[in-house]
Amino acid sequence: MEKKTTSINEKFRQRLNSVIGGDAYNFCYQCGACVGDCPAALYSDKFNPRDIMLKAQLGDEEDLTGEDSIIWNCTNCYSCYERCPQAVRPIEVIIALKNVTFNKMTNPQVVKDIVASVRESGRTVKITTLSDKRREELGLKKIGMVPIEEIRKLIK
Ligand code: SF4
Ligand code: SF4
Repeated sequence: MEKKTTSINEKFRQRLNSVIGGDAYNFCYQCGACVGDCPAALYSDKFNPRDIMLKAQLGDEEDLTGEDSIIWNCTNCYSCYERCPQAVRPIEVIIALKNVTFNKMTNPQVVKDIVASVRESGRTVKITTLSDKRREELGLKKIGMVPIEEIRKLIK
């Protein structure tokens, strides 16, 4: 009988290990505790933080950092951080994976647009005259300016 083998992409594992927060997937023992309270897993059958940690262990670069990677479905809620008995902090591994996609320029267009907006205006969403008007109607203060030069310096 032919023996089944699974190839491991050690190069990608090393790359992920070098990103802040990216290396703790090595301690994951696949218990699944992180999945129980994960809102993204509740929402989508395809999203599963345990599965993402397994793919990280295998170094599945294409699935994890390709343009249609499932990692972008994570809501950054940090439930998995609280629940993991191994201090894997899956959310931080996912953030590290997002940083890898940023360097590879494989992050989705919608994310690229948000980054461009922050660079340009210091905000993820632009303030329009309509939103100003609505705030005025609701008796809310006008939204102040953001220190855009400082933000640009930080991004640099
Ligand atoms: S941070 Fe992401 S992976 Fe973790 S529980 Fe929340 S949605 Fe799921
Ligand atoms: S809870 Fe921690 S150890 Fe368990 S599957 Fe999730 S990341 Fe792995």
